[in-house]
Amino acid sequence: MKTRREFLRTAALGAVILPIGPRALAGVEVPAEELPRLRPESPQAVDVGYVQDARRADVARGYRSGQACANCNLVAGNPKAEWRSCAMFPGHAVAATGWCGHYEPGSGPR
Ligand code: SF4
Repeated sequence: MKTRREFLRTAALGAVILPIGPRALAGVEVPAEELPRLRPESPQAVDVGYVQDARRADVARGYRSGQACANCNLVAGNPKAEWRSCAMFPGHAVAATGWCGHYEPGSGPR
């Protein structure tokens, strides 16, 4: 019988792997537009203060004016896309206008 902790760990792993799908597991890059959008109310998003609109980001978490996923060093994909992939949230797309506490200054708006 699984302990509650083991069950939660397995469920969390499934929540990460399922949205990625078999192509990503095979090492094929999945375009961000095919990824499920990161929900701000999901536990992993809440943990880091992710918001879809950076203007609503929490200054207490480190947000500074002008910061957004679009100019974060951890975002990838089409620079003009509204939803992009992020190294912090594999298997999900983040809003280009979004922000989270893992923001790393990039080389400017992309
Ligand atoms: S790490 Fe960067 S790109 Fe990813 S959600 Fe946070 S601010 Fe956006």
